[in-house]
Amino acid sequence: MALEKEAKRMAAEFEYTKDDLNKGVKEFLAEMEEGLEKQGTHLSQIPTYVTAVPNGTEKGTFLAVDLGGTNFRVCSITLHGNHTFSLTQSKVAVPRTLMETDSASELFSFMAKQIETFLKQHHADHYETHMAKPGEVSYFDLGFTFSFPVEQVGINKGRLVRWTKGFSIQEAIGKDVCELLQKEIKALNLPVKVSALVNDTVGTLMARSYTSPGKESTLLGAIFGTGTNGAYVEKLSAVKKMAMIDEQEGGTKYDRSTGLMIVNTEWGSFDNSLKVLPDTPYDQSLDRESNNPGIQMFEKRVSGMFLGEILRRAMLALHNHSSPGVSFLKDKSSADNDMTTTTTIDPDSVLFKQWGIDTSVLSIVEEDQSDHLRITKQILEKDLMVSSAATEDAIAIKMLVHAIGKRAARLAAVALGAVVIESKRLETEGFADIGVDGSLVEYYPGFEDYIREAFREIEGIGPEGEKKIRIGLAKDGSGLGAALIALVAHQAE
Ligand code: ADP
Repeated sequence: MALEKEAKRMAAEFEYTKDDLNKGVKEFLAEMEEGLEKQGTHLSQIPTYVTAVPNGTEKGTFLAVDLGGTNFRVCSITLHGNHTFSLTQSKVAVPRTLMETDSASELFSFMAKQIETFLKQHHADHYETHMAKPGEVSYFDLGFTFSFPVEQVGINKGRLVRWTKGFSIQEAIGKDVCELLQKEIKALNLPVKVSALVNDTVGTLMARSYTSPGKESTLLGAIFGTGTNGAYVEKLSAVKKMAMIDEQEGGTKYDRSTGLMIVNTEWGSFDNSLKVLPDTPYDQSLDRESNNPGIQMFEKRVSGMFLGEILRRAMLALHNHSSPGVSFLKDKSSADNDMTTTTTIDPDSVLFKQWGIDTSVLSIVEEDQSDHLRITKQILEKDLMVSSAATEDAIAIKMLVHAIGKRAARLAAVALGAVVIESKRLETEGFADIGVDGSLVEYYPGFEDYIREAFREIEGIGPEGEKKIRIGLAKDGSGLGAALIALVAHQAE
């Protein structure tokens, strides 16, 4: 009983009340506005130069490439114009040697060669006609998803800020990655134009807007995976810092006729100064011992990369708890099939290792409805090297998991809710459509339900507004989304 009481007390530390929610939304709205006015704010509110969203009637064939961490993907997407599409894809691992070479052109020519192979294989007629009679066939527009920090200065122009994920090609830093790719494509004489540099969150927004039923467009694309971020449709006139940016960039060309600009919020950095975000001892130690203390504070409470680690820290605190009667994952005898067993934990357990618990564990525990939480005990045995865990241990873990997962979903609702309120779409259009992607929102049981419960508690949305918010999974953001951005870029020419 003492353990249950202590676990309950700790779970309560993660409670994020109605009042907290509303304070969160207010601060989020203020940071959104600040980010639209000037540069260097918590919410970066980066203009993406994507100035239109699809409605599902678009047609055509487009190429998309994606340089992520380990793989390079090439795909072609044919839009059928009725919210559906077909996709052909190839994937290769990027050789290690190309990640660390001195020459940028080695990496980018590798990518161009993959595009060439793909065209020969899947668009042979187009490729051969182009080679035999240049000018006879049209160029494919290509959307380039490049998952590294870039400073985007045009729809197909962005300078590499730094490499991450093991890449280190000094020569490429500061260069326009679209130009680097286009140069190598040109060297191979391929009928391909690098039309758009794509952010995955914008891809999610575009993919949902194309596939969602009806002709209405989507407001917001949001990712809850390893990290979290959102991109939404803003009125161009509301992006007050645009004039300043235009001046800095010497008048970058983009289509102003739609009066819209998709803005990449970079909301992972919302409230880095912790004015309104919850801050338990487990959040604090996670941040202190992370490689970027004080940064991405919203993301550290919401996304897949961190929830497992928050749970680990809470479980460790409970394990180390020394008050009488509270023993968690240790020194406990219980009767099992008339045999007395003692709970023990191996000193090499991942409970004692930073980042030792994956967020997928939270999904499994949250879902566990088995007798005596047998499934949770199996995880303890298999993943955490705990033998003979007691049911009360499993109950305590389930309480912590539920608290951490629910808090993440309610915080997610702050970001989503604020964007919905700022857009005024519930009043002007009678609904707001949101596309989401990422393992957390896809697999964590009840994540959307908790978000909706929070929406009902948010002033400016409420029970009536909540019913008017549609949320749909947008898969293939980096393929379909990139193709759609290439299409919008082409139309804007
Ligand atoms: P990415 O965001 O890197 O494109 P994902 O959307 O698959 O990829 O997110 C990966 C993150 O999701 C990891 O942090 C992982 O711990 C977490 N994750 C993976 N599976 C699950 C699951 N079943 N439930 C909750 N989180 C998960």
